[in-house]
Amino acid sequence: MTEIMTLRNVSVHFPVRGFLPFLKKGEIQAVSDVSLGVRRGEIFGLVGESGCGKTTLANTMVGLVKPTAGQVLFEGVDLHSLPREEFKKTRRRMQMIFQDPFSSLNPRFNVYQLVSEPMVIRGEDDEETMKARVVELLEMVGLSAQDLYRYPSDFSGGQRQRIGIARAISLNPTFLVCDEPVSALDVSIHAQILNLLLELQERLNLTYVFISHNLADVKKMCDRLAVMYLGKLMEAGDADKIFARPLHPYTQALIAAVLDIYFSEEREIVVLPGDTPSPINPPPGCRFWQRCPKAMRGCKTVPPAFLEVEEDHFVACHLVNGFPNQDLPEGFDQPMVGREKVPGR
Ligand code: SF4
Repeated sequence: MTEIMTLRNVSVHFPVRGFLPFLKKGEIQAVSDVSLGVRRGEIFGLVGESGCGKTTLANTMVGLVKPTAGQVLFEGVDLHSLPREEFKKTRRRMQMIFQDPFSSLNPRFNVYQLVSEPMVIRGEDDEETMKARVVELLEMVGLSAQDLYRYPSDFSGGQRQRIGIARAISLNPTFLVCDEPVSALDVSIHAQILNLLLELQERLNLTYVFISHNLADVKKMCDRLAVMYLGKLMEAGDADKIFARPLHPYTQALIAAVLDIYFSEEREIVVLPGDTPSPINPPPGCRFWQRCPKAMRGCKTVPPAFLEVEEDHFVACHLVNGFPNQDLPEGFDQPMVGREKVPGR
């Protein structure tokens, strides 16, 4: 299967400014040296804790954020090397479904205005054509022509998310980023929206990047996935392989945190100590070493390479890949004890 989206060594850093705006105090390293490919027609999951860089990475894919380094290729073309008009045209083929259906819709616009707005921006001005298209889109997402002149406040959360989805597919995109599309919804409508996304994906031959905290949703939806921690990829590849045999200690902890009812296999419970460190000053070596239950002394200074350990299964961990052949301090492969993992030591 060909890749519709390819990221090559993408980093996204944001400056931190102090009292004087022209003085840079530091940098938030939101995404660091990420390379991955999303295949056409698949659902690719992006998983990790809040602040791990998932949303920044997705915004970079759709051209909303320019990478500090690296390349974003959409259908093989470097997005940021395109002339302005070409870039705008390409951007229309990529759309986003947002997390919060309450704040993502303008409360002063009725459904017709909300769903037709992208068409108006594209230059469409024939009212009849637009009305027919909006009705068609509403029916696709489970609403009807009777909803055309109602306002967002007249709808439930699930219905508003359906409006957001109709709007996102209004320009016939091929690539959609679903940024936590069900996390703000009641559990009762959660499954309905996921099923609608699956139905539309098949019907319209869409490719999704599906961002979620919820590994049960990712297991249900995704063909492949990437696990992020503090701006870096920890593990990536085929979703079935990762769920059946997670190799990175962070992925193992995330899967262990999911309710048992979603997984039939016996799993060891792993409780991670502490919080995610600051992305302004990420730890050297493996970014996860301060919280890793299996950390070795060398993990503190030597960053692990992101390597393919079996077909379509990549991991960044010295436990799996071994340490590189270089001069390492004595005892580098000995387990680190809790006291050694206090940040700053
Ligand atoms: Fe843990 Fe070391 Fe693997 Fe990082 S490289 S996940 S610290 S064992």
